[in-house]
Amino acid sequence: MEAQQSIRVSPKPKFVYPLARPNLGSTERKLLLEAFDSGWISSSGEFISRFENEFSNYVGTKYGVTTSNGTTALHLALVASGIGNGDEVIVPDLTFVSPANMVLLCGGKPVLVDSNRDYFGMDADTIQKRLTDRTKVVIVVHLYGHPVDLDPIVELCESRNLVLVEDCAEAHGALYKGKKVGTFGKISCFSFYGNKLVTTGEGGMCLTNDLPLMEKMKLLRDHGADRKEHFWHPEVGFNYRMTNLQASLGCAQLQSLDKRIEKYREICHFYSSHLIEMFGSKVTPHPEMNWAKCVFWMYTFLLNNLNPERRKHLQSFLASEGIETRPMFYPISKLPPFQKYQIENPVAKELSEKGISVPTYEGLTESDVRKICESIAKFSTTN
Ligand SMILES: *Cc1c(COP(=O)(O)O)cnc(C)c1O
Repeated sequence: MEAQQSIRVSPKPKFVYPLARPNLGSTERKLLLEAFDSGWISSSGEFISRFENEFSNYVGTKYGVTTSNGTTALHLALVASGIGNGDEVIVPDLTFVSPANMVLLCGGKPVLVDSNRDYFGMDADTIQKRLTDRTKVVIVVHLYGHPVDLDPIVELCESRNLVLVEDCAEAHGALYKGKKVGTFGKISCFSFYGNKLVTTGEGGMCLTNDLPLMEKMKLLRDHGADRKEHFWHPEVGFNYRMTNLQASLGCAQLQSLDKRIEKYREICHFYSSHLIEMFGSKVTPHPEMNWAKCVFWMYTFLLNNLNPERRKHLQSFLASEGIETRPMFYPISKLPPFQKYQIENPVAKELSEKGISVPTYEGLTESDVRKICESIAKFSTTN
C-alpha cells in the first residue's frame, strides 16, 4: 500500500512559516501522472468533466464549467449575465481586486460597497442603499472563508430582479445556515490558485443550475465556437480553458478538502484562543457568526492599536522571525484605476488599516501557532 505522506515538491520556502502552502500528496501525484501518461495534457481529457462533475456535486449545483483561473471565471459569469456599457455591478470595496477589474473589463461600472464589521463581507442593507435603475448584478465575496448573510441578499436580488454572483474564491466548502456557499447565486465562481483551499496551480470554475447559462459559458470559454460546426463562431469568445493536467490535481485535492477544512478550523481556533489570551479586548479574532461555518482560508484578525505604518513595522519584525504575513486588502476605491469610483467606506477603511493575515496551512501545529502569536506579542510589548 502506498504511504499517504505529503510530498514536498514546493520550492524551498523563504520563511520558516510561509503564509500558505499547498498540501500535495500521493493522490495528487498519482492522478497527475495518470493525466500525463494518457497523453491528454491540453484542455481535452477525462479529468476535465470529472472535476466539473465532482466539484459541482460537492458544492451542490447541477453544472460546473472549469476555467483557466478564478478571474476568468468571474469574467465569464459577467459576460454571460449580459453586463455591458454602463451597467452597474455591486462589488465589495474590501476584497481582492479581481471582481472589480472584471466589471471594468466588461465596460460596466463597479459600485463599491462597504463591509459589515462582524464578518468582513457586505450585507443586504448596505447593498440596498446603493442600488439604482442601472444595477444588474450583485457580486458577493465570502471574504477569508466567511460567508456573507445570504438570505436577505438573495431576497433583495429576487425582489429587484438582480443577478446574484457569488465569488467563492476564498470559501470552498463554507456553509451558510448549513448549506454550502456557491449554491445561492445564479452563478458562483471559484479559484484554484496555489494558496486556495483547493488548488490546481492556476484554475477556476463557474457553477450554476441554469442550463442555458452553463452552455453560454462553455461557448464563451472556447472562442465562442459552435460545437457542432467547425470554425463557426456565432459570438466573440475567449480561451479560458483549464488543462486536463490541472483538472487531475483538482480531483485529487477535492478528496481531501473536508479533512483540510477541519484542520484549518482547528489551527484557527488555536490562533483565536492564544490571541485572546495575549491581547484580550485589543484583538478582534477572525470572525465566525452563529449562522456560518467559516473555512478560515487565511487567518485574519484585527489589532485595535494597528495602523498602516505600525503594521509595516510589525510585518518586518515578524519577517525577521521567519513569519510571513499580509495586510488586509486596500479598499478598491483607493486604487488608481478606480479613482472615478472614489467613496468613503468607513468600515472597509478600518478593517483595511487594522487587519493582518498570518500563516494558515495544514502542516501547522498548536506550538507553531503559539510561537507565531508570541512573536506578535513580543513586538507589541517592545514597540
Ligand atoms: C483569489 C481570488 C480571486 C482570483 O482568483 P485567481 O484564480 O487568482 O484569478 C478572485 N476573487 C477573490 C476574492 C480571490 O481571493
